[in-house]
Amino acid sequence: MQEVCFCGRSGDVRDREPILDDYGWWALRCPSCGHLDYLEWLPGQVGLLLWGEAKRRCEVSAGQGQFVA
Ligand SMILES: [Zn+2]
Repeated sequence: MQEVCFCGRSGDVRDREPILDDYGWWALRCPSCGHLDYLEWLPGQVGLLLWGEAKRRCEVSAGQGQFVA
């Protein structure tokens, strides 16, 4: 799934950084501008599934020794 951020960055939604905000809400952070996308534009559980997949990707990269914030 491709998405364009308002900062102009386009790319796979799952390439964004999965984070939990101060209130415990899950969101994906744009690596270019830091914009938080709460994926509320996605129906039902789709956003959460995407977030989970991004999270899994992060953990895989961490296992490969890459820096993950
Ligand atoms: Zn952005």
